[in-house]
Amino acid sequence: MAIRQIQKIVAFETLSADFFLHSAYMRAFSLLNDMTPQEQREYQFHRLQRLLHYAHRAIPYWSKLISKDLTHGDTFNIKNFERLPILTREALIKHDADLVVRNIKRHKFRTWTTSGSTGIPKRFVGNKVYCQKMAASEEYFVNFLGTDFRTYGYMTPNIHLKDIVTLIPRPISTEALQKLLRDKNISAAQGPLSRLLFLAENIEAGKIQFKPKFVVSGSEFLSLENKKYLERVFQCPVYNKYGCVETGVLGLECPERGGFHITPVNCYVEVVDDNAHSVSRGAQGKIVVTCFNNRLMPLIRYDIGDTGRWIDGECVCGLNMPRLFFEGRKLDYIKFIDGRKCSALKVMRGIDNKFANIIAKQQIIQESLNKIVLKFVPGREYRPIHEKSMRDFIYSQFRGFPEIFVKVVMVSSLNNVRNGKHVIFESRI
Ligand SMILES: [Zn+2]
Repeated sequence: MAIRQIQKIVAFETLSADFFLHSAYMRAFSLLNDMTPQEQREYQFHRLQRLLHYAHRAIPYWSKLISKDLTHGDTFNIKNFERLPILTREALIKHDADLVVRNIKRHKFRTWTTSGSTGIPKRFVGNKVYCQKMAASEEYFVNFLGTDFRTYGYMTPNIHLKDIVTLIPRPISTEALQKLLRDKNISAAQGPLSRLLFLAENIEAGKIQFKPKFVVSGSEFLSLENKKYLERVFQCPVYNKYGCVETGVLGLECPERGGFHITPVNCYVEVVDDNAHSVSRGAQGKIVVTCFNNRLMPLIRYDIGDTGRWIDGECVCGLNMPRLFFEGRKLDYIKFIDGRKCSALKVMRGIDNKFANIIAKQQIIQESLNKIVLKFVPGREYRPIHEKSMRDFIYSQFRGFPEIFVKVVMVSSLNNVRNGKHVIFESRI
């Protein structure tokens, strides 16, 4: 595909007229899926250049940082782009007003806030076009998985989807939920893990009748035990999706293999080291995201607080998009006395694979630099001898790190849901 054709796609889909927007954007998705990796890269560079040109002109924070060589020229200077500083969550709070378009009052916009790990609320603004594009991305994935967006039950109130999908409110009685599922002819559902479990428990208890085609869980840690439970009760596949409030949906878990397919239409995703340079293919690093669609508050090289790595090779599932393996939240690290750290999610995944059916639920708590505790609820194949194997397994994960004491505690139940999310790792240091 010639570069001029790619430019035409970009020009068409960045039109802001409501009437064209949806079909143009959906068309961009299907065209992108037929492109070679090189063509997708050209498409992304072209969008990066347009975004930087706009941000330089309209956003005070970016006017100072973006130089002319990034906004002009026939070929995009990716090396210079990689010299732009990483936009951290702290910078987002500090430069709040400067990151928003000049004369915001002239625009029609929606505001939403999220309180991150720092506890200080972050503010985001976006216009209607941004919301429509976010919704179209979700729709593309939902269509790909095999259902109509209008019959999609959404269990998290979501500002950009509120007029399109069926929102399932909380709290809701089982009678009202059953009525909603039937009246709206809901064929698939999405929600955070705790709400999917709520739905599954009601189905299991015979209070709700619901046979979805598939179910999508948020990007929380979904243990094998929970996934198997949901798949058994719903009698359909369960997928994870990847994204956050600030960026909207970034990708969908590959239905055939591991990792998330990241959409090239919404964003440019990089995996970088501590100096903000791209790591070599397949190496682990910080995930930073540049969102193409938010004209009122463009996020450029934004550190979303996750770590991961790219997976090489084409996929057989039908989604022709790069695959990213998500390692975990940056904060979810077990810390050692010498300053080194180890991904808690990696340890949890290891336990999950090795002790499937033995552990029903688990949580790791780091009490000090010298001590961690694994709390677990026993599964149906649990025997007392397994406690020693669990401890030995965790010690084997820490080989090469300074000594740390591991305590394994069996509990009858584990209430680790906070604000609707399962906290699988808690650090008290
Ligand atoms: Zn795939």
